[in-house]
Amino acid sequence: MQITAYCRNCVHYAVLDLEGLRDKYGPAVNAMNWNLAPRLVCSKCKINKPELRYTPDANKVSGMGKAVVNPYAKAKGDR
Ligand SMILES: [Zn+2]
Repeated sequence: MQITAYCRNCVHYAVLDLEGLRDKYGPAVNAMNWNLAPRLVCSKCKINKPELRYTPDANKVSGMGKAVVNPYAKAKGDR
């Protein structure tokens, strides 16, 4: 799972370091229940208006990663 915070003010965005946030705020902050949003401040404009988007971890979800080459797709193309 990856969380990207988009700034509604300046369109700056950043991928959140979830482990870092957990170390900083403790396990009480659960990224999934929106406790996180009020704590996030844009590193560029310093305004607290993040929009959080959740993305499944591309390395763990089969077929989601762009770096993963599907060998079957190539084999099909050769026929
Ligand atoms: Zn911003």
